[in-house]
Amino acid sequence: MDDCRHRLETYLLREGADLVGFTSAADFASALDGSAPSDHLKDARSVLTIAVRVDAPPGTKKKRAMAEWRGKVFPLCELAFKASRLLFDESYHALVVPPATRSAYEALQGEISHKHAAVKSGLGCIGKSSLLVTPEFGPRVALISIITDADLGGGREFREDLCGDCDICVQVCPVEDTVNEEEKDGYYMIRKERCIKCYLCYTECPIGAGNTGH
Ligand code: SF4
Ligand code: SF4
Repeated sequence: MDDCRHRLETYLLREGADLVGFTSAADFASALDGSAPSDHLKDARSVLTIAVRVDAPPGTKKKRAMAEWRGKVFPLCELAFKASRLLFDESYHALVVPPATRSAYEALQGEISHKHAAVKSGLGCIGKSSLLVTPEFGPRVALISIITDADLGGGREFREDLCGDCDICVQVCPVEDTVNEEEKDGYYMIRKERCIKCYLCYTECPIGAGNTGH
């Protein structure tokens, strides 16, 4: 287990990943129907999450932020594809769960929750914006996950609240009462149905704001 995990992590960081996390498939016990790893891969045991930074510091316009994010999708898919080949080479099954597809983007729900996998594997917390917030890059990351039947071990869940007294995303959100400070099941939530996907909570978060260059 440790050797395979170490090989994957070393390979991914060398090839361009900024963050790599591992969590057990069992950590998705409270996932919505159809969103658990085992709903997609029989005998799923682990989820590997890869993050690449997105260059969208405060002040970045929505179109530019979207372009920066989209520009990371192909490299992420390539990284995940190659990592899945490493797993296949060791006789494991691996299913790449891509970054949000259009339908997932519209519904704000993907095949599995990349951000919850990231929290469980210790990469960051869910901020008041309901986005994954990493200590290194804030919410400015693109994520991809791989579900595998290899036992890659779990991570240490990220338990720190990086937001603290900050409420910038609450203040900049143009739709009243969309970003709020309520928590559900220990995570901050937004009112998804009101969100106009303006990207302001993504770009204006101060955490990691100076650390987004390529
Ligand atoms: S802008 Fe502030 S409150 Fe919102 S996610 Fe970032 S750190 Fe948290
Ligand atoms: S994307 Fe825009 S509308 Fe949606 S929660 Fe963030 S700031 Fe509010």
